[in-house]
Amino acid sequence: MKGKTKLLAPTQDRCDLCGRLIDPNTARYGAARDSSVIHNRDPQMDGKRLLIACDAEHMTTLWNQYQQRPYSEPELWAGKMQRVLRDHRRGLDQAAMERATGLTAEQITAAFLWNNARALAGTFRPPDPT
Ligand SMILES: [Zn+2]
Repeated sequence: MKGKTKLLAPTQDRCDLCGRLIDPNTARYGAARDSSVIHNRDPQMDGKRLLIACDAEHMTTLWNQYQQRPYSEPELWAGKMQRVLRDHRRGLDQAAMERATGLTAEQITAAFLWNNARALAGTFRPPDPT
């Protein structure tokens, strides 16, 4: 098989840019910094978006788009707080929030200010009470 390209079976994944089904023979995988990404359980994965594209050109376009998006640490911190609060419906006090998120009091305050600014700008909607 030396010198031959191994053909891989199609996947069900779609290109993050154009939506075409991914052909593993031309697919490109990548990663970009994105402060809106909060991993379900692993804080080490926060702020990192995995990308998949149908080809190198679309990966370059995707990667360039994410470079244009501002990376906001308060956004990332707000996400970390929201992940913790999923398991604490009655809330946490300041010290417990700091322990659970690994954030400082100043970072928690910055996250709240970021969240409130989003709410005032109309880009945040509270969950539907129904
Ligand atoms: Zn594509």
